[in-house]
Amino acid sequence: MTSPLAWLNSELADLESRHLLRRRRQFESLPGGWCLAAGRRLRNFAGNDYLGLSHDPRLKAAAERALSESGSGAGASALVSGRSQWLVQLEEQLIEFEGCGAALVFPTGYAANLGTIAALADSEDVIYCDRFNHASLVDGCRLAGAKFRVYRHDALDKLDESLASASPFRRRFIVTDTVFSMEGDVAPLGVLVEIADRRDAILIVDEAHGTGVWGESGRGACEALGIADRVPVRIGTLSKAVGSLGGFVAGDQSLIDWLWNCGRTQIYSTALPPAVCAAAAEGLRIIAAEPQRRAALWRNCDLFRQMLQDVGLEPHRAASGPIVPLVLADAELAVEIAGRLEERGFLVGGIRPPTVPQGTSRLRITLSAVHDEESLVELVAAIHAVWPRFR
Ligand SMILES: *Cc1c(COP(=O)(O)O)cnc(C)c1O
Repeated sequence: MTSPLAWLNSELADLESRHLLRRRRQFESLPGGWCLAAGRRLRNFAGNDYLGLSHDPRLKAAAERALSESGSGAGASALVSGRSQWLVQLEEQLIEFEGCGAALVFPTGYAANLGTIAALADSEDVIYCDRFNHASLVDGCRLAGAKFRVYRHDALDKLDESLASASPFRRRFIVTDTVFSMEGDVAPLGVLVEIADRRDAILIVDEAHGTGVWGESGRGACEALGIADRVPVRIGTLSKAVGSLGGFVAGDQSLIDWLWNCGRTQIYSTALPPAVCAAAAEGLRIIAAEPQRRAALWRNCDLFRQMLQDVGLEPHRAASGPIVPLVLADAELAVEIAGRLEERGFLVGGIRPPTVPQGTSRLRITLSAVHDEESLVELVAAIHAVWPRFR
């Protein structure tokens, strides 16, 4: 008898033939921007631990204390009995860090995007979604069941025009990453805020790659562009620069009360464990208190981009932060070049469709404050040595 799932084998074979099959491997994260893959020490340029906080002794100590005092799991959703002192402290830390009225924690950034968009919009509404938005925002829009329209942030006049004729909808939403995760550029948030005001639309932003990296006090790209208090719904993650795990929403009390009641991805999921909350709260505290970490990261960003330019390589877009995409177009080639860099001791992302549009497969290099200059110099030399145009 053939398995009722036999069709999956031909689907998988099809993915493989198109060089789109993903294989999972094991990695151990090590301090100082290193990792272990199959027993080999590699310099890790494929993570989002922008400030190196996941190995900070203070985050580990905070997590250990919460673990030993309160156990390994929260045991229930936050509304039922899972909202521990550690989660409450994390909410308080978030309110202080974000300078907002209220904050709510979700199990992940993915869950925060999904649950927030689906709680705010429904089939009577229209959502405008940037074409480079993260999958979790797109999925949130789908789940909401609203009319879904895609716009390009390099052609905002079209967005404005389209919104001008969207008044028959009950409500209008604009949803965007603040820092695009595969492109590395920052959304034109100042213009988006103006369009949202003019067209009576609600702006929802995802600071997943902004928090801890951008802005005077590390709140993100909205802070950097001076428009944080004009964005009613700010979503972020505790899993990247903050060094722990979890998602959050920052906004007014009414928004947070609504999400407590209608944000299904946090209502129907177990609360984050005490250790995870304690580490995240400590990560936020350190981000606010130690701007020198951000400064070190930005020095690396500027240095690395300059060195790439010096050898004749231009990153994909006019981006300046720690996400550095180098487009190779072809999926097979992107995987091959990432493999060659790995042979030379560097782990970088080889990104293929559907994560990026067809024909734009790329290396995605991410920088961290804990990378030393020597690593950057050697990585540029390695890229130059394996890059097709220079071989
Ligand atoms: C990583 C990421 C998320 C998801 O955050 P998690 O906490 O890892 O679930 C959401 N949005 C963007 C833009 C991301 O890059």
